[in-house]
Amino acid sequence: MFENLSERLSGVFDKLTKQGALSEDDVKTALREVRVALLEADVSLPVARDFVKAVQDKATGQQVTKSVTPGQQVVKIVHDELKHVLAGDNEDPGELKIDNPPAPILMVGLQGSGKTTTTAKLALRLSQKSGKRVLMASLDTNRPAAMEQLAILGKQIGVDTLPIVKGEDPVAIAKRAKQQATLGGYDVYMLDTAGRLHIDEELIAQAAAVRDVANPRETLLVVDGLTGQDAVNVAENFDREIGVTGVVLTRMDGDGRGGAALSMRAVTGKPIKFVGLGEKMDALETFEPDRIAGRILG
Ligand code: GDP
Repeated sequence: MFENLSERLSGVFDKLTKQGALSEDDVKTALREVRVALLEADVSLPVARDFVKAVQDKATGQQVTKSVTPGQQVVKIVHDELKHVLAGDNEDPGELKIDNPPAPILMVGLQGSGKTTTTAKLALRLSQKSGKRVLMASLDTNRPAAMEQLAILGKQIGVDTLPIVKGEDPVAIAKRAKQQATLGGYDVYMLDTAGRLHIDEELIAQAAAVRDVANPRETLLVVDGLTGQDAVNVAENFDREIGVTGVVLTRMDGDGRGGAALSMRAVTGKPIKFVGLGEKMDALETFEPDRIAGRILG
């Protein structure tokens, strides 16, 4: 995902670290190149601009040019700033608030973003890694195939799904999921809402109605990381209309440019909690800013 950006930045920093002494102009030139590299990676303009300014201010404040290893110091400042832009002050992005069983998790997102796959991946993770009893329910009454898909994935990973009752509406399904989760002693129940190709009134109205009856502890938005700044726009919209507590970026195994990951928190204020790295059920990782910053810097 970050190959191009990483290559560009290594080029800039190789030059910088090979040079012994640095002038302020050398740092400025390097940061101009960093800015271009960020924009090419589809990072939003204000985020790229603020990023470069923050690095510039820190480099000046720490009198980098007068230090013994100025190039390395700039790289360290960039690394820390990357971490900050990726996660803000959130130290533990993979953490979910799911105490007080049964805790509802609402999954929202556009059709094709990977929502159903991610619901199952996360259910597997919660049951395997955290020992939680999880119940999944599909609320996508417009697409019976999507409801079937969740049931199939549930069987495959050994996680229970709420039996499908024909003709039931999403709010009724959410209520039944809650009831079954309570009676069945589940720790968590996950509501996989309907997706559509675009955000429209019906989608929002339905998700909001479900949110109001379920009162979710977490509302996770699933967005396709390959769509760059669009992913960030989608997140802003969902957050405004429904309110989200975290983002899952899918297709981070693909050859997108990485801009969505870099702009998401700064633009929406919402943490990326997990990343999808493939179609398989175990291809979900917690979003670790330190590791990702390291990967970007190569
Ligand atoms: P939904 O319409 O949002 O529920 O999307 P689905 O969960 O049905 O996923 C659509 C397609 O994307 C499926 O073929 C998934 O296997 C695939 N997919 C989901 N997440 C990822 C991911 O992280 N990486 C890759 N490469 N494919 C993914």
